Amino acid sequence: MGDKKPSIIKKLSSAKPMRELMGAYFNELNEAATTGSAKVAWCTSVGPAELLRAFGFVVHFPENHGAMLGSTRMAPELIPAANAIGYSPDICSYLTSDVGSYLTGQTPLKKAYGFEGVPKPDVLVYNTNQCRDVKDLFEWYGRELDKPVIGIDTPRGVDEITQDHLDAVIGQHKALLPALEKISGQRFDIDRLRETVQSSYRCTLGWKKVLRQAASKPSPITFFDDTIHMGPAVVLRGDERAEKYYETLSAELQERIDSDNGAVDDERFRFYWEGMPVWGKLREHAELFASNQACVVASTYCNSWIFEGLAADDPFEGMARAYTELFIVRSEGFKTRYLTEMAEVYEIDGFIYHDAKTCPNNSNNRYGLPQRLGRELSIPYVVFNGDLNDLRLYSEEQARTQFEALIEQLQAA
Ligand code: SF4
Repeated sequence: MGDKKPSIIKKLSSAKPMRELMGAYFNELNEAATTGSAKVAWCTSVGPAELLRAFGFVVHFPENHGAMLGSTRMAPELIPAANAIGYSPDICSYLTSDVGSYLTGQTPLKKAYGFEGVPKPDVLVYNTNQCRDVKDLFEWYGRELDKPVIGIDTPRGVDEITQDHLDAVIGQHKALLPALEKISGQRFDIDRLRETVQSSYRCTLGWKKVLRQAASKPSPITFFDDTIHMGPAVVLRGDERAEKYYETLSAELQERIDSDNGAVDDERFRFYWEGMPVWGKLREHAELFASNQACVVASTYCNSWIFEGLAADDPFEGMARAYTELFIVRSEGFKTRYLTEMAEVYEIDGFIYHDAKTCPNNSNNRYGLPQRLGRELSIPYVVFNGDLNDLRLYSEEQARTQFEALIEQLQAA
């Protein structure tokens, strides 16, 4: 896919402050773990980060590290180490590549920041709202590092969210408090939690604004840019630096909108990406679509870090709502309604469904949804097979042929 040609991807200048912010975050994490200046919590990507920050923990997200292993293409070499100790090649390749990274001592954090390894935790806190794999991953590390593992089990397949759902999740958040007080050495402070939740909410509004700016025609940003620029919303929500970053990025996008400067030159077709990114192929995918005047303008994946439920006077209820109303834990009916709305908001010409072999949870093509939605909306779609991290499960040729067939279908219409 055009490796030798000059790239046609338009870089955003906000990438520089974002890299600096991410560097500062990782350095703080490493300093805490190596000097003991602060306690370190590992948290699943949509786990209770606000609660942990309110206790003064610096927070590491192993799935973020998993994505780094994918985008640096280290994952395919590391996964076999996890398979060798009994983790199937069919389960989450974030899990297997992260375990492989630990077992072999290889991490992109060494090359990028000179760290000895991934900063070690004082506690691991999960939320199963995404899948069981995150709990299994944390329990493996808990045994390996002899550290406590605590967490929240969230209902799944939820249609309308009821007070019963929320009460169950609120109760589980509150049940974490005694353990977190003990491990952090700090008393729980509701005002500090309120501030953190409010900061996280402002970050969410900033991130949502950035994503919705892609509804402009032409779009000032692509899904492939989003996967990079979502970093602060993932790892620094609840920290005001993340809020500020999205003001910077949004201002740059507004300049592009005002000057009719699309992320893809002469944008003709607009796509929605449903499912995980193929982390090791972001650049190739971005170039393929751009070279066909096609812009992937939106995705469920990047939308999943919009946590509007946090807007609650009661921070526990806000966290429970935000982390229970995620797309990934919802019913097929909800998913159909949601994607219908997205098609309208972004004026979508076609859907791309990624059937990621090791992530059934984020592969929404397996129960007839593309066919149903395709019929209802009369919007063409393609389903391609691949994976988030394990490139051995992805065929470049097949994916390219399928993407181009979708584009040709639209060109012929
Ligand atoms: S949702 Fe998918 S990619 Fe994310 S941790 Fe679970 S199995 Fe892995």
